[in-house]
Amino acid sequence: MDSLATGLHCIDCGAAHPPSYTLQCPACAGLLELRYDGDTVKRHGPSLFTGAGLWRYAPVLPITDPAHRVTLGEGQTPLLECPRLARRLGVKRLLVKFEGANPTGTVKDRSSATAIGAALQFGFRATSVVSSGNAGSSIGAYSARAGLRSLVFCYERASAPKVLHMAATASDLVIYQGVYDDLIALWDTLAEERLFFDCGATRNAYKHEGKKTIAYEIAEQLDWQAPDVLVAPVAVGETFIAAYRGFAEMERWGLIAKRPLMAGAQAARANAIVTAWRDKAPVVPIKIGYTVAEGLAAGNPGRKGDWVLRILRDSGGVAGQAEDEEILEAQKLLAREEGIWAGPTGSASLAVLARLLADKRIDPASTICVIVSETGLKTEAPPPPLAPRAFDAESLRRLVLDKLASART
Ligand SMILES: [Zn+2]
Repeated sequence: MDSLATGLHCIDCGAAHPPSYTLQCPACAGLLELRYDGDTVKRHGPSLFTGAGLWRYAPVLPITDPAHRVTLGEGQTPLLECPRLARRLGVKRLLVKFEGANPTGTVKDRSSATAIGAALQFGFRATSVVSSGNAGSSIGAYSARAGLRSLVFCYERASAPKVLHMAATASDLVIYQGVYDDLIALWDTLAEERLFFDCGATRNAYKHEGKKTIAYEIAEQLDWQAPDVLVAPVAVGETFIAAYRGFAEMERWGLIAKRPLMAGAQAARANAIVTAWRDKAPVVPIKIGYTVAEGLAAGNPGRKGDWVLRILRDSGGVAGQAEDEEILEAQKLLAREEGIWAGPTGSASLAVLARLLADKRIDPASTICVIVSETGLKTEAPPPPLAPRAFDAESLRRLVLDKLASART
């Protein structure tokens, strides 16, 4: 099926623009979102979607030529029922959408697929991104897959496995010394000059769009229903906005009966949007320190921050934050209770859910879906202090019997 994209639409002034490579509204500098021929979706329903993975949803994505639909096998990540974790948190039903199962281990692969597809569509030869690690390795990988050059800027505290991954996949990797948000401001002016295709999270509607598929997948995995609540991580807001847009489209086009309540999750050390939501005020950029949730370390979410706030306010959503200690505790819980190994960035949404439940902001009798955005395999941490031991037959037997006799909690 062809792409049903009809053009770009300004979220601020409502102006319509043709589906070109435009980063902001020419009329008012507002952010742009893609629009589609919804009547065709209404007419065909879910039968529009064929094939596997992310490109199953190609009719509601903006890449027109199938030859530009670059893939490493992203999407179709598991939606995991988590009964033990649900009992632990005291909720009726808990689902984890585990994005660590994507090819580079993160939700970024969804937006990389449509970003690199759009770079091909608009004839670019080079891509670039500023990253805390996950986006850089994903854009590097998808650029390589499409035969494009990639220039990845990464800040110096990125974890070693992420740096290794970026160095392996990117054409060029530059380690930046300084404040992450400052580099993004400088880099944005180069994106304006079109020296490369903008693979940043702040403006490019085509890149953003790939993450919308997370909503389509969740709905389809629930037999075309939405969960009651969706907890999504928020750095600048790309995953949150894209997921919301996906559910809103499906509701508008009759694919699902109703949207989920949206819950935005931030790290307490990078909480500009939570603060604005709580104070019923505009987003004020903050200087941030280090958080274990590296991928959430954005002090200045820019105009997407305002977009997240608008969604929260218009749709009656909630926002919450978690301290680093709570995030690390949630990471352990996911692994111990359900066998899901996520990094701190990916575990933050679960930590925030626990907080929102404690604060009675979310009804525990609802079906709650938590987006866990990354694998734990790319996080650097010292191994646990376990000394190696030698055995003979008898001591090994004794150890096994002892271990099995002690109840694991
Ligand atoms: Zn506008």
